Formats: sequence, C-alpha cells, structure tokens
Amino acid sequence: MSAIPTPPAPLKRRRGSKDAAGDHVWTLLQAKRLAAIAQDAPSKSGIFERVYAGKASMRLCIKAFCLECVWMDILAIRECTATACPLWRRRPYQQGPAA
Ligand code: SF4
Repeated sequence: MSAIPTPPAPLKRRRGSKDAAGDHVWTLLQAKRLAAIAQDAPSKSGIFERVYAGKASMRLCIKAFCLECVWMDILAIRECTATACPLWRRRPYQQGPAA
C-alpha cells in the first residue's frame, strides 16, 4: 500500500475565489490529489486546479477525469478500449501528432 502524499502547503489557487485571508480553499482530498499530481505529472496540475476551482469547461473536466482514470497517461486515453465508458466518445487526446 502506497503512502498518501503530503500536500504542499500552502497551495494557492491561480484563479477563482479565495477565502478571507486570500488563501486557497482546497478540500483535504483535493490538496492530496494536487500534491500527487504535482509529483507525478506537474504539467497537469493547472488542469486540476482549474477544475477544482470551478473554473473549467465541461471539456476540461472530462480531460481531467480521463487523466485521473489512467493516472496521467495520455497514450492510454488515446488508446482506451473501454467503449462502455460514458466518456469514451468524448475522451481527449484522440487526435495524436502525426507519426
Ligand atoms: S474514456 Fe477511457 S480513459 Fe476516459 S474515463 Fe473512460 S475509461 Fe477512463
């Protein structure tokens, strides 16, 4: 069983509302998830920050869901075979760069 990563403190929102002190308002679960993403796939942190802040489009929310499903593996999303998944037809990264 892997250890739950310790969230970096303090996490700051890039967008969205702040609390009275001007600090983030992530939930504990969001903070833990952001810490794990920052460690494993830092380029994806902004996507999840926008989603958690309620500032993301539905398309970006779907992207985040798929990224979380296969833990940041873009190729796995592109080649996803879970055709029964309700998001399958709308999953991101279906158009890869020309080989
Ligand atoms: S489409 Fe595939 S990668 Fe995206 S959530 Fe569904 S099963 Fe996961």
